[in-house]
Amino acid sequence: MNAKVQRQVDAANGAKEPRENEVSTSASQAATKLKPKTKIYYTPLLQPIQEAAADRGELEPALEKGREELVRCELCPHNCLLKPGQTGFCRVRRNIDGRVRATRDGYTSSIALDPIEKKPLSFFHPGTQILSVGFFGCNMRCPFCQNFEISMHSDEDLSARGRYITKEELVELAVSLRARGNIGIAFTYNEPLVHFEWIKECFALAREAELETVLVTNGNFNEPCIREIAPLTTAWNIDLKCFTEDGYRSLGGDLETVKRAIVLAAESSHVEITTLVVPDLSDDPQDMAREAAWLAGINPGIPLHLTRFFPRYHSLEEAPTDPVIMRRLAKIAREHLQCVELGNL
Ligand code: SF4
Repeated sequence: MNAKVQRQVDAANGAKEPRENEVSTSASQAATKLKPKTKIYYTPLLQPIQEAAADRGELEPALEKGREELVRCELCPHNCLLKPGQTGFCRVRRNIDGRVRATRDGYTSSIALDPIEKKPLSFFHPGTQILSVGFFGCNMRCPFCQNFEISMHSDEDLSARGRYITKEELVELAVSLRARGNIGIAFTYNEPLVHFEWIKECFALAREAELETVLVTNGNFNEPCIREIAPLTTAWNIDLKCFTEDGYRSLGGDLETVKRAIVLAAESSHVEITTLVVPDLSDDPQDMAREAAWLAGINPGIPLHLTRFFPRYHSLEEAPTDPVIMRRLAKIAREHLQCVELGNL
Protein backbone atom coordinates (compact mmCIF):
# COMPACT_ATOMS: atom_id res chain seq x y z
CA MET A 1 0.00 0.00 0.00
CA ASN A 2 1.42 3.39 -0.87
CA ALA A 3 1.80 6.33 1.50
CA LYS A 4 -1.25 8.15 0.16
CA VAL A 5 -3.65 5.30 0.86
CA GLN A 6 -1.99 4.66 4.22
CA ARG A 7 -2.66 8.31 5.18
CA GLN A 8 -6.35 7.90 4.28
CA VAL A 9 -6.56 4.69 6.27
CA ASP A 10 -4.85 6.26 9.26
CA ALA A 11 -7.23 9.21 9.09
CA ALA A 12 -10.23 6.90 9.02
CA ASN A 13 -8.94 4.77 11.83
CA GLY A 14 -7.93 7.73 13.93
CA ALA A 15 -11.44 9.12 13.62
CA LYS A 16 -12.91 6.37 15.72
CA GLU A 17 -13.65 7.65 19.18
CA PRO A 18 -13.79 4.69 21.56
CA ARG A 19 -16.75 5.07 23.85
CA GLU A 20 -17.81 3.45 27.04
CA ASN A 21 -18.63 -0.22 26.51
CA GLU A 22 -17.13 -0.22 23.03
CA VAL A 23 -14.21 -2.42 22.06
CA SER A 24 -11.22 -0.23 22.79
CA THR A 25 -8.77 -1.78 20.36
CA SER A 26 -8.26 0.84 17.65
CA ALA A 27 -9.56 0.24 14.17
CA SER A 28 -6.01 0.71 13.00
CA GLN A 29 -4.80 -2.27 15.02
CA ALA A 30 -7.78 -4.33 13.96
CA ALA A 31 -7.34 -3.44 10.31
CA THR A 32 -3.65 -4.29 10.40
CA LYS A 33 -3.96 -7.55 12.29
CA LEU A 34 -7.28 -8.82 11.02
CA LYS A 35 -7.31 -12.47 10.11
CA PRO A 36 -10.12 -14.99 10.53
CA LYS A 37 -10.25 -16.32 14.07
CA THR A 38 -7.48 -14.04 15.34
CA LYS A 39 -7.84 -12.88 18.92
CA ILE A 40 -7.45 -9.19 18.29
CA TYR A 41 -9.61 -8.23 21.26
CA TYR A 42 -8.47 -10.99 23.51
CA THR A 43 -5.32 -9.66 25.11
CA PRO A 44 -6.56 -6.14 25.93
CA LEU A 45 -9.65 -7.57 27.60
CA LEU A 46 -7.94 -10.21 29.64
CA GLN A 47 -4.84 -8.24 30.54
CA PRO A 48 -6.33 -6.52 33.62
CA ILE A 49 -7.82 -9.82 34.78
CA GLN A 50 -4.50 -11.57 34.35
CA GLU A 51 -2.60 -8.81 36.14
CA ALA A 52 -4.99 -8.76 39.10
CA ALA A 53 -4.91 -12.54 39.35
CA ALA A 54 -1.13 -12.65 39.12
CA ASP A 55 -0.96 -10.15 42.01
CA ARG A 56 -3.05 -12.56 44.05
CA GLY A 57 -1.00 -15.53 42.86
CA GLU A 58 -4.01 -17.23 41.27
CA LEU A 59 -3.62 -16.66 37.54
CA GLU A 60 -5.45 -19.67 36.13
CA PRO A 61 -8.74 -19.53 38.14
CA ALA A 62 -9.14 -15.82 37.45
CA LEU A 63 -8.39 -16.38 33.78
CA GLU A 64 -11.12 -18.99 33.62
CA LYS A 65 -13.56 -16.63 35.37
CA GLY A 66 -12.71 -13.96 32.79
CA ARG A 67 -13.32 -16.38 29.95
CA GLU A 68 -16.76 -17.26 31.28
CA GLU A 69 -17.89 -13.65 31.07
CA LEU A 70 -16.64 -13.12 27.53
CA VAL A 71 -18.77 -13.96 24.51
CA ARG A 72 -17.46 -14.15 20.98
CA CYS A 73 -19.49 -12.87 18.04
CA GLU A 74 -18.66 -15.12 15.10
CA LEU A 75 -20.68 -13.30 12.48
CA CYS A 76 -17.74 -11.70 10.68
CA PRO A 77 -13.94 -12.12 10.56
CA HIS A 78 -13.41 -9.67 13.40
CA ASN A 79 -14.73 -12.39 15.74
CA CYS A 80 -15.07 -9.83 18.53
CA LEU A 81 -14.65 -11.17 22.03
CA LEU A 82 -16.98 -9.05 24.14
CA LYS A 83 -17.29 -8.36 27.82
CA PRO A 84 -20.83 -8.01 29.24
CA GLY A 85 -22.34 -4.83 27.83
CA GLN A 86 -19.50 -4.31 25.36
CA THR A 87 -20.17 -3.38 21.73
CA GLY A 88 -18.21 -4.86 18.81
CA PHE A 89 -16.13 -3.26 16.08
CA CYS A 90 -19.31 -2.70 14.02
CA ARG A 91 -20.77 -0.45 16.79
CA VAL A 92 -24.02 -2.41 16.54
CA ARG A 93 -23.69 -5.84 18.11
CA ARG A 94 -23.34 -6.13 21.86
CA ASN A 95 -22.92 -8.74 24.58
CA ILE A 96 -26.29 -8.54 26.34
CA ASP A 97 -26.84 -11.10 29.08
CA GLY A 98 -24.29 -13.45 27.57
CA ARG A 99 -25.72 -13.32 24.04
CA VAL A 100 -24.43 -11.15 21.21
CA ARG A 101 -27.14 -9.29 19.32
CA ALA A 102 -27.73 -6.02 17.54
CA THR A 103 -28.95 -3.30 19.85
CA ARG A 104 -32.22 -1.59 19.03
CA ASP A 105 -33.04 -3.57 15.89
CA GLY A 106 -35.57 -1.93 13.62
CA TYR A 107 -34.29 1.66 13.90
CA THR A 108 -33.84 2.71 10.29
CA SER A 109 -31.60 5.45 8.93
CA SER A 110 -33.59 5.70 5.70
CA ILE A 111 -36.46 4.10 3.80
CA ALA A 112 -36.98 4.91 0.12
CA LEU A 113 -38.48 3.49 -3.03
CA ASP A 114 -35.52 3.29 -5.43
CA PRO A 115 -35.10 2.07 -9.00
CA ILE A 116 -33.55 -1.41 -8.79
CA GLU A 117 -30.71 -0.19 -11.02
CA LYS A 118 -29.61 2.14 -8.21
CA LYS A 119 -28.55 -0.77 -5.93
CA PRO A 120 -26.85 -1.39 -8.46
CA LEU A 121 -28.68 -4.40 -9.90
CA SER A 122 -28.91 -4.00 -13.65
CA PHE A 123 -29.98 -7.51 -14.58
CA PHE A 124 -32.54 -8.33 -11.89
CA HIS A 125 -36.06 -7.21 -12.88
CA PRO A 126 -34.81 -4.11 -14.74
CA GLY A 127 -37.19 -1.17 -14.81
CA THR A 128 -38.77 -1.99 -11.43
CA GLN A 129 -38.58 -0.30 -8.04
CA ILE A 130 -37.48 -1.72 -4.71
CA LEU A 131 -38.21 -0.59 -1.17
CA SER A 132 -34.73 0.21 0.14
CA VAL A 133 -33.97 0.26 3.85
CA GLY A 134 -30.85 1.27 5.76
CA PHE A 135 -29.91 0.90 9.40
CA PHE A 136 -26.65 2.00 11.07
CA GLY A 137 -23.15 0.63 11.49
CA CYS A 138 -20.56 -1.29 9.48
CA ASN A 139 -17.88 -3.90 10.11
CA MET A 140 -15.32 -2.24 7.81
CA ARG A 141 -13.53 1.13 7.96
CA CYS A 142 -13.13 2.40 4.40
CA PRO A 143 -11.66 5.95 4.46
CA PHE A 144 -13.62 6.73 1.29
CA CYS A 145 -17.00 5.50 2.60
CA GLN A 146 -19.80 7.01 0.55
CA ASN A 147 -22.37 6.62 3.38
CA PHE A 148 -20.21 7.38 6.41
CA GLU A 149 -22.97 9.42 8.11
CA ILE A 150 -24.84 6.21 8.85
CA SER A 151 -22.23 3.47 8.50
CA MET A 152 -19.74 4.96 10.96
CA HIS A 153 -22.32 5.52 13.67
CA SER A 154 -24.62 3.39 15.72
CA ASP A 155 -28.32 4.19 15.91
CA GLU A 156 -27.71 5.33 19.49
CA ASP A 157 -25.41 8.12 18.26
CA LEU A 158 -28.13 9.37 15.98
CA SER A 159 -31.29 8.16 17.66
CA ALA A 160 -33.18 11.30 16.69
CA ARG A 161 -32.83 10.26 13.05
CA GLY A 162 -33.77 6.62 13.46
CA ARG A 163 -37.34 5.75 12.54
CA TYR A 164 -38.53 2.55 14.16
CA ILE A 165 -40.38 -0.06 12.14
CA THR A 166 -41.27 -3.68 12.84
CA LYS A 167 -40.54 -6.48 10.40
CA GLU A 168 -44.26 -7.00 9.86
CA GLU A 169 -44.84 -3.30 9.15
CA LEU A 170 -41.97 -3.24 6.67
CA VAL A 171 -43.34 -6.23 4.76
CA GLU A 172 -46.82 -4.68 4.76
CA LEU A 173 -45.36 -1.44 3.42
CA ALA A 174 -43.51 -3.30 0.66
CA VAL A 175 -46.67 -5.15 -0.36
CA SER A 176 -48.68 -1.90 -0.39
CA LEU A 177 -46.13 -0.35 -2.75
CA ARG A 178 -46.56 -3.03 -5.41
CA ALA A 179 -48.91 -0.70 -7.23
CA ARG A 180 -45.98 1.72 -7.64
CA GLY A 181 -43.75 -0.91 -9.19
CA ASN A 182 -42.18 -2.27 -6.01
CA ILE A 183 -40.92 -5.85 -6.23
CA GLY A 184 -39.56 -6.34 -2.72
CA ILE A 185 -37.23 -5.19 0.04
CA ALA A 186 -33.54 -4.30 -0.26
CA PHE A 187 -31.34 -3.77 2.77
CA THR A 188 -28.73 -1.28 1.70
CA TYR A 189 -27.04 2.10 2.51
CA ASN A 190 -25.14 0.87 5.62
CA GLU A 191 -23.81 -2.69 6.05
CA PRO A 192 -27.03 -4.62 6.61
CA LEU A 193 -25.68 -7.93 7.84
CA VAL A 194 -24.58 -6.56 11.20
CA HIS A 195 -28.36 -6.77 11.81
CA PHE A 196 -28.30 -10.39 10.66
CA GLU A 197 -31.04 -11.91 12.86
CA TRP A 198 -33.59 -9.14 12.23
CA ILE A 199 -33.01 -9.24 8.48
CA LYS A 200 -33.23 -13.02 8.36
CA GLU A 201 -36.63 -12.97 10.07
CA CYS A 202 -37.81 -10.10 7.89
CA PHE A 203 -36.72 -11.89 4.71
CA ALA A 204 -38.61 -15.02 5.80
CA LEU A 205 -41.80 -12.93 6.12
CA ALA A 206 -41.07 -11.18 2.81
CA ARG A 207 -40.65 -14.46 0.95
CA GLU A 208 -43.99 -15.67 2.37
CA ALA A 209 -45.50 -12.52 0.84
CA GLU A 210 -43.75 -13.36 -2.48
CA LEU A 211 -41.51 -10.32 -2.32
CA GLU A 212 -37.98 -10.24 -3.73
CA THR A 213 -35.29 -9.97 -1.07
CA VAL A 214 -32.10 -8.06 -1.84
CA LEU A 215 -28.89 -7.53 0.12
CA VAL A 216 -26.36 -4.86 -0.77
CA THR A 217 -23.41 -5.92 1.34
CA ASN A 218 -19.65 -5.81 1.70
CA GLY A 219 -19.72 -9.62 1.94
CA ASN A 220 -17.21 -9.52 4.80
CA PHE A 221 -19.07 -12.17 6.80
CA ASN A 222 -18.20 -15.68 7.88
CA GLU A 223 -19.46 -18.67 5.95
CA PRO A 224 -22.18 -19.81 8.43
CA CYS A 225 -23.80 -16.36 8.25
CA ILE A 226 -23.85 -16.37 4.45
CA ARG A 227 -25.08 -19.97 4.28
CA GLU A 228 -27.99 -19.13 6.62
CA ILE A 229 -29.17 -15.98 4.86
CA ALA A 230 -28.57 -17.15 1.26
CA PRO A 231 -31.71 -19.33 0.90
CA LEU A 232 -33.85 -16.32 1.89
CA THR A 233 -32.08 -13.84 -0.43
CA THR A 234 -33.10 -13.63 -4.06
CA ALA A 235 -30.47 -11.11 -5.20
CA TRP A 236 -27.20 -9.69 -3.94
CA ASN A 237 -24.93 -6.85 -4.83
CA ILE A 238 -21.62 -7.59 -3.14
CA ASP A 239 -18.70 -5.18 -2.96
CA LEU A 240 -15.34 -6.47 -4.09
CA LYS A 241 -13.35 -3.51 -2.88
CA CYS A 242 -9.99 -4.60 -4.27
CA PHE A 243 -8.25 -7.84 -5.08
CA THR A 244 -5.35 -7.89 -2.64
CA GLU A 245 -5.29 -9.18 0.90
CA ASP A 246 -3.24 -6.18 2.06
CA GLY A 247 -5.80 -3.79 0.60
CA TYR A 248 -8.65 -5.56 2.34
CA ARG A 249 -6.82 -5.67 5.65
CA SER A 250 -6.24 -1.92 5.45
CA LEU A 251 -10.01 -1.46 5.24
CA GLY A 252 -10.80 -3.82 8.12
CA GLY A 253 -11.88 -6.69 5.89
CA ASP A 254 -10.66 -10.05 4.67
CA LEU A 255 -10.43 -10.84 0.95
CA GLU A 256 -10.79 -14.62 1.24
CA THR A 257 -13.91 -14.22 3.39
CA VAL A 258 -15.50 -11.93 0.80
CA LYS A 259 -14.57 -14.27 -2.05
CA ARG A 260 -16.17 -17.18 -0.19
CA ALA A 261 -19.33 -15.12 0.37
CA ILE A 262 -19.55 -14.37 -3.36
CA VAL A 263 -19.16 -18.05 -4.27
CA LEU A 264 -21.86 -19.11 -1.78
CA ALA A 265 -24.28 -16.37 -2.80
CA ALA A 266 -23.87 -17.21 -6.49
CA GLU A 267 -24.76 -20.85 -5.81
CA SER A 268 -28.36 -19.98 -4.99
CA SER A 269 -29.18 -16.40 -6.03
CA HIS A 270 -28.67 -13.65 -8.56
CA VAL A 271 -25.38 -11.86 -7.82
CA GLU A 272 -23.86 -8.64 -9.15
CA ILE A 273 -20.52 -7.26 -8.00
CA THR A 274 -19.44 -3.66 -7.42
CA THR A 275 -15.85 -2.44 -7.36
CA LEU A 276 -15.42 1.22 -6.49
CA VAL A 277 -12.27 2.13 -8.41
CA VAL A 278 -10.17 3.97 -5.83
CA PRO A 279 -6.74 5.33 -6.87
CA ASP A 280 -3.89 3.23 -5.47
CA LEU A 281 -6.29 0.68 -3.96
CA SER A 282 -8.29 -0.88 -6.78
CA ASP A 283 -7.08 0.71 -10.02
CA ASP A 284 -4.22 -1.65 -10.81
CA PRO A 285 -4.75 -3.28 -14.25
CA GLN A 286 -3.17 -6.58 -13.21
CA ASP A 287 -5.36 -6.80 -10.11
CA MET A 288 -8.43 -6.07 -12.25
CA ALA A 289 -7.46 -8.85 -14.66
CA ARG A 290 -7.11 -11.27 -11.73
CA GLU A 291 -10.42 -10.13 -10.22
CA ALA A 292 -12.35 -10.49 -13.49
CA ALA A 293 -10.77 -13.88 -14.25
CA TRP A 294 -11.67 -15.12 -10.77
CA LEU A 295 -15.30 -13.95 -11.14
CA ALA A 296 -15.48 -15.58 -14.57
CA GLY A 297 -14.38 -18.82 -12.94
CA ILE A 298 -17.62 -18.72 -10.93
CA ASN A 299 -19.75 -17.56 -13.85
CA PRO A 300 -18.69 -15.30 -16.76
CA GLY A 301 -22.25 -13.92 -16.71
CA ILE A 302 -21.83 -12.28 -13.29
CA PRO A 303 -22.27 -8.52 -13.89
CA LEU A 304 -19.43 -6.30 -12.64
CA HIS A 305 -20.08 -2.63 -11.85
CA LEU A 306 -16.97 -0.46 -11.89
CA THR A 307 -17.90 2.80 -10.21
CA ARG A 308 -15.89 5.96 -10.15
CA PHE A 309 -14.50 7.16 -6.83
CA PHE A 310 -15.30 10.69 -5.68
CA PRO A 311 -13.70 12.14 -2.53
CA ARG A 312 -15.75 11.47 0.61
CA TYR A 313 -15.23 11.10 4.34
CA HIS A 314 -11.47 10.88 5.02
CA SER A 315 -10.39 10.98 1.39
CA LEU A 316 -11.43 14.57 0.64
CA GLU A 317 -7.99 15.57 -0.58
CA GLU A 318 -7.92 12.91 -3.26
CA ALA A 319 -8.87 13.49 -6.88
CA PRO A 320 -11.76 11.56 -8.45
CA THR A 321 -10.70 8.53 -10.46
CA ASP A 322 -9.56 9.41 -13.97
CA PRO A 323 -12.26 8.29 -16.46
CA VAL A 324 -9.50 7.06 -18.80
CA ILE A 325 -8.41 4.59 -16.12
CA MET A 326 -12.03 3.50 -15.61
CA ARG A 327 -12.40 2.68 -19.30
CA ARG A 328 -9.07 0.88 -19.38
CA LEU A 329 -10.09 -1.32 -16.46
CA ALA A 330 -13.48 -2.04 -18.03
CA LYS A 331 -11.75 -3.18 -21.22
CA ILE A 332 -9.55 -5.55 -19.21
CA ALA A 333 -12.53 -6.92 -17.26
CA ARG A 334 -14.50 -7.48 -20.48
CA GLU A 335 -11.85 -9.91 -21.65
CA HIS A 336 -13.24 -12.25 -18.95
CA LEU A 337 -16.80 -11.13 -18.15
CA GLN A 338 -19.86 -10.64 -20.35
CA CYS A 339 -21.40 -7.66 -18.48
CA VAL A 340 -19.13 -4.88 -17.23
CA GLU A 341 -20.80 -1.54 -16.50
CA LEU A 342 -19.24 1.81 -15.66
CA GLY A 343 -20.92 4.01 -13.06
CA ASN A 344 -20.59 7.58 -11.74
CA LEU A 345 -18.83 8.78 -14.90
S1 SF4 B 1 -20.51 -8.43 13.42
FE1 SF4 B 1 -19.74 -6.78 14.77
S2 SF4 B 1 -19.59 -7.69 16.81
FE2 SF4 B 1 -19.78 -9.38 15.34
S3 SF4 B 1 -17.67 -10.01 14.90
FE3 SF4 B 1 -18.26 -8.53 13.32
S4 SF4 B 1 -17.62 -6.53 14.07
FE4 SF4 B 1 -17.59 -7.93 15.83
